[in-house]
Amino acid sequence: MNSAVHKLNIVLLGAPGSGKGTQADRLCEKLGLTHVATGDLFRENLRNETELGKLAKSYMDKGILVPDEVTIAMVKDRLMRPDIEGGVVFDGFPRNQTQAEALSAMLAEMGQQVNAVVYIRVADDEIVERLSGRLICRRCQASYHKKFNPPKVEGVCDVCGGELYQRADDNPETVRTRLETYKEQTAPLVEYYQKAGLLVEVAGEGTLDEVTERLLAAVDGKVAG
Ligand code: AMP
Repeated sequence: MNSAVHKLNIVLLGAPGSGKGTQADRLCEKLGLTHVATGDLFRENLRNETELGKLAKSYMDKGILVPDEVTIAMVKDRLMRPDIEGGVVFDGFPRNQTQAEALSAMLAEMGQQVNAVVYIRVADDEIVERLSGRLICRRCQASYHKKFNPPKVEGVCDVCGGELYQRADDNPETVRTRLETYKEQTAPLVEYYQKAGLLVEVAGEGTLDEVTERLLAAVDGKVAG
């Protein structure tokens, strides 16, 4: 695929901890796209103590979805910024059918569309292990794992030198709810996008490089084919 293809919009689907955030960053770098992660946008609002952040917190702490109208309005706002010109990798959005329909409508208004949806499949027990060891950079949101992908210097982000922390919602109880929420509300999008002819599935196990290669090949196949 020509990486200079314009307005490529990719959705990454997968359970929490399936590697969407890490792989989204890598895809963006390879394909010149912009990473839009609704979880990151909510956490940014939380840090800045905005009204949106305060509202989102009550849902995030429980591991359930922030209401659709709030989430969709936030994404709409994000898509107004000029940096999304070349296209977007959506991570954590859409998370249900209402959001999927809203995304298509928003992109259509901009003369664009979802070009490919990549479902990153990871076994349940691996998900729990990944989330319990996950570390995130406070500054740039880069994601690490204590065992599988440790930073070069403990507690410090390789990318920007920011401080690493464990997300409050990566505790066992909230993880359980997040996985249930995912299964009930987000997993049905796999079939939804399959029917739309946009879905391609990749195995999320293996090294980060292996998964990135699979993702690139999957996007390539979908966009070219
Ligand atoms: P994430 O960083 O994607 O794991 O998201 C963390 C939390 O933010 C989720 O458990 C939800 O509470 C909230 N969130 C993120 N994305 C969405 C979305 N698309 N719709 C509703 N809530 C979301």
